Amino acid sequence: MRTTVQSDPVRCTGCGACVSICPQHAVSMMPDAEGFLYPKVDGEKCIGCNLCEIRCPSGRTEQRSEPKMLGGSVQDEQLRMQSSSGGLFTSLAVQMIRRGGVVFGTVMNESLTAEVVGVFSEEALSGIRGSKYVQSQSADAIANAADLVEKGIPVLFSGTPCQVAGLYARLKGGHPSNLITVDFVCHGTPSPGVFAAYISELERIHGSKAVSFAFRDKRLGWKNFSTVGQFEDGSMETVTQLTDPYMRGFLSNLYLRPSCHECHLRFDTLPADLTIADLWGADKLYPERDDDTGLSLLLIHSEAGKAYFESCGNLDMFPIDSAEPFKRVNPSLFGPSVPHKKRERFFALYRKHGFSFDDINRLLAPPGRLQKTAEWIAHLPGAVKRRLLHSS
Ligand SMILES: Cc1cc2nc3c(=O)[nH]c(=O)nc-3n(C[C@H](O)[C@H](O)[C@H](O)COP(=O)(O)OP(=O)(O)OC[C@H]3O[C@@H](n4cnc5c(N)ncnc54)[C@H](O)[C@@H]3O)c2cc1C
Ligand code: SF4
Ligand code: SF4
Repeated sequence: MRTTVQSDPVRCTGCGACVSICPQHAVSMMPDAEGFLYPKVDGEKCIGCNLCEIRCPSGRTEQRSEPKMLGGSVQDEQLRMQSSSGGLFTSLAVQMIRRGGVVFGTVMNESLTAEVVGVFSEEALSGIRGSKYVQSQSADAIANAADLVEKGIPVLFSGTPCQVAGLYARLKGGHPSNLITVDFVCHGTPSPGVFAAYISELERIHGSKAVSFAFRDKRLGWKNFSTVGQFEDGSMETVTQLTDPYMRGFLSNLYLRPSCHECHLRFDTLPADLTIADLWGADKLYPERDDDTGLSLLLIHSEAGKAYFESCGNLDMFPIDSAEPFKRVNPSLFGPSVPHKKRERFFALYRKHGFSFDDINRLLAPPGRLQKTAEWIAHLPGAVKRRLLHSS
């Protein structure tokens, strides 16, 4: 009798679509030893129809025509600061709410677990705004979004490319006219178990429970963003991406999901109507537009996506002719991340004693001198920074 959907874990992205595809409710998501969720099949309930495996989207990529590309941001400066890049996601989401629809995106819930939820109001968009660099749970959201779409309710579903592929699989393919999908250029998603262990370690060090965690605070700059942890005792900790041990492990590919290293959902195979990303390289490519508060890259893959985007307002956008420069500055647009050579060693240590800052320091090379200088500059007040830059 079947116990898993995909016998090779590398083939499973963890989207959770199979949970609601199974007509017997025999599939549920369970964590593995690395802290990632995988579907487990209850042999007592399984009738052997194999629908879970037949409709699993893993490994099925559709070649699409080259997307149209734009760069830009929202006009609202406050909103731009609250967003990871140029804030395009919120503009797309607001439009769906004003049409009376539902927007699905990732929140950090009260127990600091990332999950995809549906929201119905503009106020509630703040929870799903911003990148959470940990894999979010999406099985329930895919089921709920598919139910709403099937009832004819307008839905915007935002998630990783593999979560969007999961939603289409649950809907048996096709592109319903009341559904708009938004994915992003994806570096890969870290283990939820590792993130939970990191939060426990932060709490032990602070002697206080963490009440919130932001992955991309831009107060020190868009390029040199920081994490911000807030604790029950009122204290707060801001650490730049270059020194935060969790972000260092994420950006070094120490604990991404195995499927992320084989993922072929890229430039012209991304499944959504629209793809959003950071416009990395803007300082060299579009210096006149880059004030370090964030710029987005937008890829338009479908006619429906184009029409939807054109109906959104309050944006400053400009055309981008070639994706060539992004090969170097945003490699995730074209290929999967390569696992760190010490990935196995990290997980051996993690299984023994959870997340340890010392392990990260031992396993990863220290941030380089150039990076340290960049970080030091980012800490300076704006006026001093401007004087330094003008005198160089
Ligand atoms: C794990 C991860 C890896 C990424 N890798 C890259 C990369 O390599 N290159 C690049 O250019 N951009 C990458 N991005 C995208 C980038 O961080 C921004 O999310 C994107 O530029 C959109 O920014 P925004 O200002 O338009 O909107 P924001 O308001 O920042 O919107 C973010 C959107 O992403 C969704 N989201 C946030 N966290 C998750 C999550 N864990 N799982 C699923 N959906 C989530 C939110 O629900 C929201 O819809 C990544 C994002 C994530 C979460
Ligand atoms: S549907 Fe998603 S969670 Fe289920 S086996 Fe396929 S990739 Fe994994
Ligand atoms: S890299 Fe691919 S498999 Fe991994 S989370 Fe992103 S879209 Fe999914």
